[in-house]
Amino acid sequence: CGIVGVVGKPAREVVLNGLKNLEYRGYDSAGIYLNDLQGNEYLTKAVGRISNLEEKLTPDEEGLVGIGHTRWATHGKPTVDNAHPHVSEDGRFYLVHNGVIENYAELKEKYLQDVDFKSTTDTEVVVQLVDKIAREKNLDAFSAFKEALKLVRGSYAFLLVDNTQPDHIFIAKNKSPMMLGIGDGFNIIASDAISVLDQTKTFIDLQDGDVADVTKDNVVIETIDGEKVERKPHTLDIDP
Ligand code: GLU
Repeated sequence: CGIVGVVGKPAREVVLNGLKNLEYRGYDSAGIYLNDLQGNEYLTKAVGRISNLEEKLTPDEEGLVGIGHTRWATHGKPTVDNAHPHVSEDGRFYLVHNGVIENYAELKEKYLQDVDFKSTTDTEVVVQLVDKIAREKNLDAFSAFKEALKLVRGSYAFLLVDNTQPDHIFIAKNKSPMMLGIGDGFNIIASDAISVLDQTKTFIDLQDGDVADVTKDNVVIETIDGEKVERKPHTLDIDP
């Protein structure tokens, strides 16, 4: 399983290539969300190889923001509906996740009884929860994401896009791998650095408990409680 997200440059090839480089981690299905920042968004998922996903994308489906996922199913069969990205009921939030949400059944029972779930994954609970908190508490995406994460137990590398502010990728890490690559006019997130080394050699090693708001030329890292965190980038001295 793997995740790749990029903001600030044409995202489709970058995400697909990154996912291919993460194939070694194993997967049963894959998906990608692209947003062109002009009001068009594209969600595509496929069971099996990344080439199956590529074949489903039409040439005009491109974005300046993209998040992609290869899934190794832990909760729910490997089907198109269970492939990530998962979408909130109102179509606002898109989420990819590597890891396991241990208390997903409790969260569903306690907060999301009125939601019409589209998948049988643990992951969908989180995107529906973020949406619910954003609406009910009238919070922006980053705040709602942090509020939701306070309720979530388990392992995760999350990439979240809010299509009302699509030039941001919100990310969170706990016990699942995730690196933040710093580019010139773009930023990129991936499960490992090697998979996106053709894009940048400068990386921030995110730590468990980190959340971040990533735009094309800025990165704000905080704890789930909203305290600012400083993480120094380092440069990898290896060729792709
Ligand atoms: N637990 C999630 C699922 O089954 C994510 C699996 C993964 O890490 O790919 O959909």
